[in-house]
Amino acid sequence: MSRATHTVFNQSTPLADVNLFSGNRALADALHFHDAGFNSARLAALGAEMGSAVMQQHARLANAFPPQLKSHDRFGRRIDQVEFHPSYHVLMSAALRHGLHGTPWSAGAGAHVERAAAFLLFTECEPSVLCPVSMSYAVTPALRANMAIHSDWFPGLASRSYDERFLPFDRKNGLTMGMGMTEKQGGSDVRANTTRAEFDGDDAWGRRYRVTGHKWFLSAPMCDAFLILAQTSGGLSCLFLPRILPDGTVNALAIQRLKHKLGNHANASSEVEFEAASAWLVGDEGRGVAQILAMGAITRLDCALGTAGLMRHALSLALHHARQREAFGKRLVEQPLMKNVLADLAIESEAATALALRLARAVDRCEAGQDASGHEAAMRRLLTPIAKFWICKRGSHFAQEAMECLGGNGYVEEQGEGVMARIYREMPLNSIWEGAGNIMALDLLRTLRDPAAGAALEHELEPARQAHPAFDRRRDLVLRAVGGITEEVEARRLARDLALLLQATLLRQHSSDAVFAAFCASRFDTADVFGLLPAGVGLDAILERA
Ligand SMILES: Cc1cc2nc3c(=O)[nH]c(=O)nc-3n(C[C@H](O)[C@H](O)[C@H](O)COP(=O)(O)OP(=O)(O)OC[C@H]3O[C@@H](n4cnc5c(N)ncnc54)[C@H](O)[C@@H]3O)c2cc1C
Repeated sequence: MSRATHTVFNQSTPLADVNLFSGNRALADALHFHDAGFNSARLAALGAEMGSAVMQQHARLANAFPPQLKSHDRFGRRIDQVEFHPSYHVLMSAALRHGLHGTPWSAGAGAHVERAAAFLLFTECEPSVLCPVSMSYAVTPALRANMAIHSDWFPGLASRSYDERFLPFDRKNGLTMGMGMTEKQGGSDVRANTTRAEFDGDDAWGRRYRVTGHKWFLSAPMCDAFLILAQTSGGLSCLFLPRILPDGTVNALAIQRLKHKLGNHANASSEVEFEAASAWLVGDEGRGVAQILAMGAITRLDCALGTAGLMRHALSLALHHARQREAFGKRLVEQPLMKNVLADLAIESEAATALALRLARAVDRCEAGQDASGHEAAMRRLLTPIAKFWICKRGSHFAQEAMECLGGNGYVEEQGEGVMARIYREMPLNSIWEGAGNIMALDLLRTLRDPAAGAALEHELEPARQAHPAFDRRRDLVLRAVGGITEEVEARRLARDLALLLQATLLRQHSSDAVFAAFCASRFDTADVFGLLPAGVGLDAILERA
C-alpha cells in the first residue's frame, strides 16, 4: 500500500563525486601565481578522491563514531590506547599517502605551496583528522635542534605509509607527532607551566630527563611522540617525549580522559599525566618557548589554510543548494539579495585562500633558501599572526551565513549527513588553538617593532596602489599608523586592517577585476554582515568565477 502523502520536490541533491580541485578557480589562480610549476595532476587526483561520495562517507562515520579511550585492559592493566572507527584510519592513510605531513621538508622549492593547496582540499572532506597530520608536518623545524632524534625520526615523519600500530618507532612504516604545551593553569601563558623535568643522564639522543606533571590538552594522543614544555633547572625547555622508549618499554604517559568537544569529533584530544616519563632535550634549556614555537608557527599556517578550506566547502554547499532551490518563483541563485550574499561569501572565501597561500609561499621561499632580499622572511613573520587572526576569526561568521543559505536544512545534521552543521562546529577551533585571536594580535605588535616590517609591508602592498581609491585611502592611513601603534588595545584593529590590505593586494594580482573591485568597495568600511556589496559590483561575474 502506498503511504505517500505528497511528492518530494524542490529539495537540492547531495554535493558528491565532484573534483574539489578542478572546480576551484580561486585556488588554481593563486597556485599559478605563487608556484607556476605545481603538479596539477597530483592535485586533481587528490581533488577527485576527497570529493568522492566514498570519502565523504568515511568523513561522516569518523565523526559519527568518535574515538574511545581504552585506559585499561580487561585484566586491569593500564594500556592508555585510543580506539578509532576504521574510517578514521582510511582518512589518515589518504592524508599521508598524499604527502600532507613531513614530505615538503625534503623536497624542492614550491613543495610547501603545493602541500598547502593539498591541505586545503583535504579539509573540504574532513578537517579533524588533519590535527595530527598538521603537527607531524610542523614539527620538523623545531626537531632539527636535536639532530640525533631528527635523523632517526624524520624518515618516518615523511613516509607516505600510515601505520596505526602501537610499536617502537624503528618498527613502524610511518610516524606521527603531536605537541603538549597547555596546562590547566595556562595555555596562552605557557610560562605558568608547572610540569617538571629532572636531568637523568646523556645517551645517543642527548640530554635525557624524567618528566612529571600534566597537560590539559594533548591532541592525538596516539601519535608516536610529542614535543612538550617542562621546567628544567635551566628554565622552561622543549623536550621530545616518545610514547614508546627506544628499548621497547612503554613511556609513563597516562591518558586521563578524552575531551568532549563542540566539534572536531573524529580527532581525539586528551588530558594526560606524566609520571617520571623519559624525554630528551630539544634546543637549549630555558629556550623552550621559542623552540616549540618553531612548530607552533607552522601549525598556525595550517589553521589559516584549514579555515580557508572549510570556507570553500561551505561556499560550495551554499552555491549548490541555491542553484537548485526555488523560492518566490525563481531559483535562489537568481534572487538579487541572495546573489549579493553568495557573491560576498565567494569574495571572502577567495580572499582567505589567497592570504593563506601567500603565507605558504613565504614559508616555502625561506625554507628553499630563495630569499636573498629577506623580504619573504619579514613577510613570513608578519603574515603568520595576520593570517591566523583574520581568516580564523572570519570562519564562524562565514559558516553561519553559508548555513543560512540552506535555510532550515543547513541547521539539521541527520547523523552527520548535513555537513554544514559539522563545518559550523569545527570553525571556532582554528581560532582558539595554536594561539587565540588576542595572542595573534599581540604577536603582530611585537613583529612590527622590527624596523624592517614597515618597509616589507609597503613593498608588499605596492601592486594594488592606485587601483582603487578605497584601497589607497586605507593603505595610506594604515601604513602611517603601523610604526606608531604600540597600544595593545589597538592590536586587533591593526591586524584586521593589514589582513584586508594584504588580501586586496593579492586579489588584485591573481583574481578577477570584479572580485578585486567588490572587495575594495565593501571591506574597508564594513566587514560585519555578509551581503552588503554595493549595487553595480558585477555579482554575476563573481558568482560565475566561484
Ligand atoms: C580541541 C582542542 C585541542 C587542543 N589541542 C592541544 C594540543 O594538542 N596541545 C596543546 O598544547 N594545546 C592544545 N589545545 C589548547 C589550546 O592551544 C589552548 O586552549 C589555547 O592556546 C588557549 O589557551 P587556554 O585555553 O589556556 O586559554 P587562556 O590562555 O586562558 O586564554 C583565554 C583567552 O584569553 C586571551 N588572552 C590570553 N592572554 C591575553 C593577553 N595577554 N591579553 C589579552 N587577551 C589574552 C586569549 O586570547 C583567549 O581568548 C587544544 C585546544 C582545543 C580546544
